[in-house]
Amino acid sequence: MPQVHAYAAQSATSPLASFTIDRRDPGPGDVALDILHCGVCHSDLHTARNEWQNTLYPSVPGHEIVGRVTAVGAQVTRFKVGDLVGVGCMVDSCQHCAPCAEGLEQYCDNGFTATYNGPVFGGGPNTFGGYSTHIVVRESFVLRISHPADQLAAVAPLLCAGITTYSPLRQWDVGPGHRVGIVGLGGLGHMGVKIAAAMGAYVVLFTTSAGKREDALRLGAKEVVVSKNTDEMAAQANQLDFILNTVAAPHDLDPFIASLKVDGTMTLVGAPATPHPSPGVFGLIFRRRRLAGSLIGGIAETQEMLDFCAQHAIVSDIEVIGMDHIETAYARMVKGDVKYRFVVDMATMG
Ligand code: NAP
Ligand code: ZN
Repeated sequence: MPQVHAYAAQSATSPLASFTIDRRDPGPGDVALDILHCGVCHSDLHTARNEWQNTLYPSVPGHEIVGRVTAVGAQVTRFKVGDLVGVGCMVDSCQHCAPCAEGLEQYCDNGFTATYNGPVFGGGPNTFGGYSTHIVVRESFVLRISHPADQLAAVAPLLCAGITTYSPLRQWDVGPGHRVGIVGLGGLGHMGVKIAAAMGAYVVLFTTSAGKREDALRLGAKEVVVSKNTDEMAAQANQLDFILNTVAAPHDLDPFIASLKVDGTMTLVGAPATPHPSPGVFGLIFRRRRLAGSLIGGIAETQEMLDFCAQHAIVSDIEVIGMDHIETAYARMVKGDVKYRFVVDMATMG
């Protein structure tokens, strides 16, 4: 069993630090890869700090993985040594329940195996993610990358931030003629703006940071609303067909619900550690509005998203960091100071 260099949190209060993990030898259906880059998702921070109170320590976060195939098992047909590939938030699922049969592995009735912090089917208690130099993954959970090779680092965030925004935009049929709100301009939000705009929607970006206005317009938003400004919020009343809310902290949902048209939906993908204040019922019942949720996306849909982004020349806006800067990156993420995704260069692991 090869030993692999990683970065791990040992407790909710200890900073991430160098650590050694065991990876399995590739089995007949497995793909082994050298990890070249790994994106830094706010979920990594929620997990490392045990904010969701479910963290298994030691914790090696990272589920926006891109790398190069180093070995394939005898039964692997879709990948060969040298291919550039991606691994997202899941590395396995039961493959026989109704959601898995529909390509909705993220809603597996038996619980998918998360890339990190997940119990392993028939195996150990914990999985270790992409803050490491090497990983072994079942072929069916490995994604093809068709972007130019020099964009690889900026493709990494598509594996979570990309699919988490693409999937609900597709599920709610966003396209030309739709006015779509994206709430929060962070890692997920900036991908949501790019993807919704590429789908042909008229995008309205809601932010708490007035300084992000120009960036939002450059990324594809047609309007920017500073959500702390009640006049700007009031001007959006009853305007939007769909809202994707990516905010990582609890906040009042009612002003956003008020922006929806009749039958409009706001889908929550942001996963704060503590609940949002409960929305008022009148905002929902008076215009038959809906509040929904969405979790990442299935494997086939993740491939569809990667291909869509390659066709539309969409990548993430990134700031590449060394692994030893991860705590600084987390601190900036807490302040909303991310433009718009940190990506770790694994060569810095030594
Ligand atoms: P991020 O890069 O930190 O962006 C979050 C954005 O939310 C911030 O940039 C900020 O945008 C806004 N925000 C407003 N108030 C905030 C506050 N008090 N604290 C933090 N952010 C605040 O995070 P992310 O990686 O996009 O992830 C966003 C959330 O989605 C996290 O909770 C994450 O765990 C969750 N997530 C869910 C899924 C899923 O499948 N549902 C998948 C991945 C991540 P402005 O400055 O524009 O206001
Ligand atoms: Zn994520």
